[in-house]
Amino acid sequence: MKIIDIHAHISLESCRQILLEADRLEISHLCNLVGHLKGISMINATPAHIVAMNNQTMTLVRKHPGRITGFCFLNPLHDRRFLLKEIDRCLVKGNLKGIKLEVDANARSSRLDPILKECARLNLPLLHHAWYKTVGKVFNESTPADIAHLARRHPGVKIIMAHLTAAGIRGILDIQPCPNVFVDTSGSQSFSGIMEYAVEKLGAGRILFGSDISGRDFSVQLGRIHGAKINRREKELILGLNAKKLLGI
Ligand SMILES: [Zn+2]
Repeated sequence: MKIIDIHAHISLESCRQILLEADRLEISHLCNLVGHLKGISMINATPAHIVAMNNQTMTLVRKHPGRITGFCFLNPLHDRRFLLKEIDRCLVKGNLKGIKLEVDANARSSRLDPILKECARLNLPLLHHAWYKTVGKVFNESTPADIAHLARRHPGVKIIMAHLTAAGIRGILDIQPCPNVFVDTSGSQSFSGIMEYAVEKLGAGRILFGSDISGRDFSVQLGRIHGAKINRREKELILGLNAKKLLGI
């Protein structure tokens, strides 16, 4: 079976090691959202930083065709003209397949709307960070309830909400009524029952395997799916079939 990791952070430096580890665990395809670049933070990235990060992803996709798919990373607080220009460069003329947003603007902000309109126009998925935190919340960081708000504003866009185990039971219930929201399995420490609960409430067709490598380890991330009390077909959907369809690979 083809295992696809929808949530990876690969840089040119870490690529070789990550692909070796992916081979060992039979992960045949990875979706790079945004890779680390020395001296550049994903939070409050400038337009020049965004261009550098997206260039890195486009290079990785070019170097590893059929092995790495890439998403275009954006900061919604940037000027609208820059956002549209970067979408055109990376997604229309370039080789990237979706958009990744992090914590610069909250998902309820209208600053996201021009980006989501482009997703609808170009039929691109969006992967958005989300987390329920009691401490350490980043300013503007989105919760699953914020993602549901975004999904209701743009029902025609397929949104992958990151971090199932950070969303928890409350987060699953937030997105349950929004059929255009999927969830990736990364985030936080796993706890027993969460995967089964997500399958029961959302259906396996809305859940995608994501590791969040290199912040997390592949084996632990795969263990939460292999060890879940769900059937074989559900595991196949989560581990690869859903991502295959969503990414068109
Ligand atoms: Zn991540």
